[in-house]
Amino acid sequence: MRVLITGGSGFIGSHLSDACLQRGDEVFIIDDLSTGSFENIRHLKDHPRFHYTIESVHNQPVAAELVDQCDVIFHLAAAVGVKLIVESPVHTIETNVRGTETILALANKKKKKVLIASTSEVYGLSTEVPFREDGNLVMGATTKGRWSYACSKAIDEFLALAYWREKKLPTVVVRLFNTVGPRQTGQYGMVIPTFVKQALSGRPITVYGSGEQSRCFCYVGDVVGALMKLMDDEQAVGEVFNVGSNHEITISDLARKVKDLANSESEIVLVPYDEAYEEGFEDMPRRVPDISKVNKQVGFQPQMDLDGILKSVIEFHSGRQGQENKGTSAQR
Ligand code: UDP
Repeated sequence: MRVLITGGSGFIGSHLSDACLQRGDEVFIIDDLSTGSFENIRHLKDHPRFHYTIESVHNQPVAAELVDQCDVIFHLAAAVGVKLIVESPVHTIETNVRGTETILALANKKKKKVLIASTSEVYGLSTEVPFREDGNLVMGATTKGRWSYACSKAIDEFLALAYWREKKLPTVVVRLFNTVGPRQTGQYGMVIPTFVKQALSGRPITVYGSGEQSRCFCYVGDVVGALMKLMDDEQAVGEVFNVGSNHEITISDLARKVKDLANSESEIVLVPYDEAYEEGFEDMPRRVPDISKVNKQVGFQPQMDLDGILKSVIEFHSGRQGQENKGTSAQR
């Protein structure tokens, strides 16, 4: 299979590239390195079946050529990370909506199947936990920057489903819940790499709000497996699937776990949301997926538990920190 992955040098995209190459696919990626990093794909750059284009998906002629060359498209290119979204809402809305419009329009010309990566953010302030794909999406006020992300991805979903209904372009929508593992950067606000880096460097571990809010963290390898199975499944077309773990942990407990597993002396501090993000910031108290639909469809069940995930992330960042320290002392 010839596979196009937009956002292929991002955290999830690079793991998906690895997995597709492993099963024998020819992999094409396009990424503008806005939140992705070349480091994520450096190990693949000389692979005979790996082809990378450093460009934005908004570049129509380039994107068109790649779409034409491939059989299927995983559309992962997006502005992600709560910090990035709060700080750059214009970039977020434009990247997410225009990018998806471009890819769907191009894919439609040759009826190439598209899997759209959406997000659990679309459930917004819903309290109907666990979230089901057919449940209500409850958006917050438009004056709060965070919700622009949820709305932009909800538009992406509407558009993908509309292309299927109206134009018979095969599309699948996947709502990714908190996905974690090596290569994820804490730069745009994600909690696990942030806590791990803080714990390893002895800096305070910053728990936002009361720390009583909870999340479910799923290993990127498990998520990538689900994406590939859903892409391969003809019956998944025109459907929306939650993909994630349903094992819930509060952020305070997560901070303690990271501190223990990293053997860290860091203190755990509470930081008010207003200071962490912006005034009036709204967080979700709980975010738990109902994963029975994807389980029934493709047998998805997360394999790696939270301790295993955290150990892999700690190992990844320990290696990095060692390298960074070496670099600094060499410079000195
Ligand atoms: N969070 C935190 N400290 C940090 C970064 C995040 O306490 O340094 C909290 C954040 O407020 C949220 C949870 O951890 O309640 C998960 O945050 P993340 O940005 O990883 O994902 P999302 O909010 O999209 O679920």
